[in-house]
Amino acid sequence: MVALPLALASLLRLGSSDEAEAAVALLAASSATRGGRRPLPPTPDCGDDDEPTPAETAGPFFTPNSPRRTSLIEPGLRGTRLVVEGRVVTRGCHPVAGALLDFWQADDRGDYDNVGFRLRGHQFADADGRFRLETIEPGVYPGRTRHIHVRVQAPEGRVLTTQLYFPGEPRNRTDGLFRRDLLLAMADGSSGRFGRFHFVLDS
Ligand code: FE
Repeated sequence: MVALPLALASLLRLGSSDEAEAAVALLAASSATRGGRRPLPPTPDCGDDDEPTPAETAGPFFTPNSPRRTSLIEPGLRGTRLVVEGRVVTRGCHPVAGALLDFWQADDRGDYDNVGFRLRGHQFADADGRFRLETIEPGVYPGRTRHIHVRVQAPEGRVLTTQLYFPGEPRNRTDGLFRRDLLLAMADGSSGRFGRFHFVLDS
């Protein structure tokens, strides 16, 4: 039988919050199958030593003043549906209520809309720092692996500009901007794909 406190302590030392979260879920499931009470998991995506989410270049295709919307789906938009969910937290684990998240990405052919606002939109995290974006999987374009651009800003805080990546992409190995710590945790859902990422802001 697993010594739970020790196991949980080791989870907190895992390098990735997603690894920790997955491991906590596994522990909870294994406890449930043993007939024990389902343990309360520790706050899975927070730790006092959380590193801030790294910044990356905005690239040439950012357009200011995107519309406020949580869904970038429009009639006629082609591509694999994708939902991205997560939280915005401080390094000390506090949710950043009202954090601004401004997303922009290529369409499924790898093209950006540099005239209008197709596949561009901003939203604000809720009181728990949670956000949810409905979109499609972006296509690839020369020199780049699959990615989504985002700017994240706490109210009155500094702007974090970064990019999110997809696991298992062949081009991840050749794109010099790719970083493993900006990978979405991906899963397949009934109506498309599902990705999760937690942003940790330094300010
Ligand atoms: Fe790009």
